[in-house]
Amino acid sequence: LEDAKMIPIAEPNLGEEELENIIDVVKSSWISSKGRYISKFEREFSKYCEVKQGVAVSNGTVALHLVLKSMGIGKGDEVIIPSLTFIATANAVSYCNAKPIFVDSHPDYWCMDSEKIKEKISDKTRAIIPVHLYGHPCDMDTITDLADDYGLYVIEDAAEAHGAEYKGRKTGSLGTVGCFSFYGNKLITTGEGGMCVTNDEELADRMRLLRDHAMSDDNTYWHSTIGFNYRMTNLQAAIGVAQLKKIDGFIERKRKIANRYSKGLNDLIGGDLIDIHPEMSWAKCVYWMYSILLEERDNLAKVLEKKEIDTRPFFYPMHYLPPYKNNEKFHVAERLSKVGINLPSSTVLKNKDVDRIVQVIREALS
Ligand SMILES: *Cc1c(COP(=O)(O)O)cnc(C)c1O
Repeated sequence: LEDAKMIPIAEPNLGEEELENIIDVVKSSWISSKGRYISKFEREFSKYCEVKQGVAVSNGTVALHLVLKSMGIGKGDEVIIPSLTFIATANAVSYCNAKPIFVDSHPDYWCMDSEKIKEKISDKTRAIIPVHLYGHPCDMDTITDLADDYGLYVIEDAAEAHGAEYKGRKTGSLGTVGCFSFYGNKLITTGEGGMCVTNDEELADRMRLLRDHAMSDDNTYWHSTIGFNYRMTNLQAAIGVAQLKKIDGFIERKRKIANRYSKGLNDLIGGDLIDIHPEMSWAKCVYWMYSILLEERDNLAKVLEKKEIDTRPFFYPMHYLPPYKNNEKFHVAERLSKVGINLPSSTVLKNKDVDRIVQVIREALS
């Protein structure tokens, strides 16, 4: 009962259509990684992202790994990523025996600072992974221009930004490849799941090959190289197909929730509240996790917890964590990590829940 009362940070929004598709899959007995929902989900999600090819995989982390492997990135190579991200971005690079090179965040929109990338490019650099953090897109023109100048791949980590837009174009369509996650707390979910989307047909073919143990299409059990089992199941894809139908409604709801939080908190900025979730003029943010910045972040989290409202602190910068520790200084990322907090952001959240959370925050800060 206590759990039922708690307002969670994120909650999947599932309905009858997901259930119907699952029943359809079970009745068909195609519950594994063959079946019509997989290609349907790949087709429809890549189309939604305004991109030609979709390669569905078992989660967002392996989506990143599969892309890097398919690009031939390996030992001795460097890949530029923001320090402030979820660790999966860095780990995918490490799985390839390549080295993640960190960049500071931009103070205005919290993603990788595109002006600070150039100084990190070396003759070992092969790719840049911009991460559309908490639903806000990166400054993509600057990043892709730089990548063109130096002959680098751009891999968008769009795990937190399904449907977000940069200058009217969808995330996932802006670089060489876009990687998505469909984990339970993401904008749309398949339980666990992921997808790589790209217009590069050759790269998509390579990803499909490596996703399935690099097994030859016309010569069973002939494996040209070491591949992986990174396949998505038909059961997962069946949920994904149903979720995708509702994505525009989910985004609209996320934006309404964000707007309600912002309106309720806006006048506190400059006092105890440092800032609220930004949206740059060139961006359509999907507010995966609506977030605010404040000095007393940890105290606020405790107050909210007592009122049964769940929150999350921002990620630790990668250069603070044991596997990636170094002595670089990334002042913006370090500061954001210290003062940033995610508030409940589920699409199933009621207006009255948002209002209550706003009220508790206002009282805590007064
Ligand atoms: C969730 C997430 C991932 C990993 O996705 P999984 O499906 O959980 O493996 C990668 N990058 C970012 C930025 C994420 O938020």
